[in-house]
Amino acid sequence: LAASGSSGVASYHPVLDQQSLRRLQLGTELEQAMADGHISVVFQPIIDARSSDIVSVETLVRWAHPRYGAIPPDDFIHLAEQIGRIGPLTDHVLDLALARCRRWLDQDIALSVAVNLSARCLTEPDLVERVRRALRRHGVPGELLTLELTEGSVIDDTVRNSSVLADLHALGLRLSMDDFGTGYSSLSQLRQLPIDEVKIDKSFVLGMSTSQGESFIARSIIELAHNLGLRVVAEGVEDELTRNLLAEMGCDKLQGFLVSRPLPDERLESWLLARTG
Ligand code: C2E
Ligand code: CA
Ligand code: CA
Ligand code: CA
Repeated sequence: LAASGSSGVASYHPVLDQQSLRRLQLGTELEQAMADGHISVVFQPIIDARSSDIVSVETLVRWAHPRYGAIPPDDFIHLAEQIGRIGPLTDHVLDLALARCRRWLDQDIALSVAVNLSARCLTEPDLVERVRRALRRHGVPGELLTLELTEGSVIDDTVRNSSVLADLHALGLRLSMDDFGTGYSSLSQLRQLPIDEVKIDKSFVLGMSTSQGESFIARSIIELAHNLGLRVVAEGVEDELTRNLLAEMGCDKLQGFLVSRPLPDERLESWLLARTG
């Protein structure tokens, strides 16, 4: 879609390919989709590696499109960023996550929720205020919210030179470094930042049962993170062997298909009931 030159006419690219057309259209439909309730969330349980107690859920966005069916987040998050609509989308997801958390609180269940934050969000000047207002609106204490940030966004200069991470932290919430190991940052860089937790990227975790190399990386991340006072979550745990290896290594929390797939609200409710008896 980078087709139009100064003339404003896409003369060098005579045909928009199918994918570009679809993306263009999805961009215009995003806002309405939120209003129509087509953008929803699912929740994936995160358990304590030792006790297997559920400690948190990660909120993952879903788009049920009337014509295209289920559109995965990897297909529209980036798009939302590009068209400047990631802010409203994030607010929408945060709202659904905190509403869920509130209903647990009403049942005396203190289960924390995690929400993914795009890199773009951290440079929005009103982000901290929006998060603060959302917590207050739902009456959820900051401690029950975790924001998952990507490595790239946190080491970005604009972010490092601003107080956004410290200001978010001051709301009492936890900051988690998502997809750890895939970017260029080192754990020592994290030491200067108000990060509470790292999530070992699933690309390493998925390979652990078959590759010693991946296991070694996981072990190293866990040891280093613990030395820096950080908690460690492993995502993408799909088999018992990996689960046992991670538990042995002292990994704090586990998430993955072995524990549960991401679940819609009603199914999470029955999952919780079945688990706690
Ligand atoms: P992520 O934050 O790394 O989320 C984990 C992804 O791994 C999810 O994919 C989840 O369904 C998948 N997953 C969980 N357990 C396993 C497992 O055991 N094996 C395998 N193979 N995969 C597993 P999903 O839901 O398609 O989300 C993809 C990405 O989209 C997320 O990656 C996240 O970066 C982004 N995303 C999702 N929801 C949001 C959101 O509300 N806001 C933003 N900014 N990004 C989001
Ligand atoms: Ca995540
Ligand atoms: Ca991740
Ligand atoms: Ca990912």
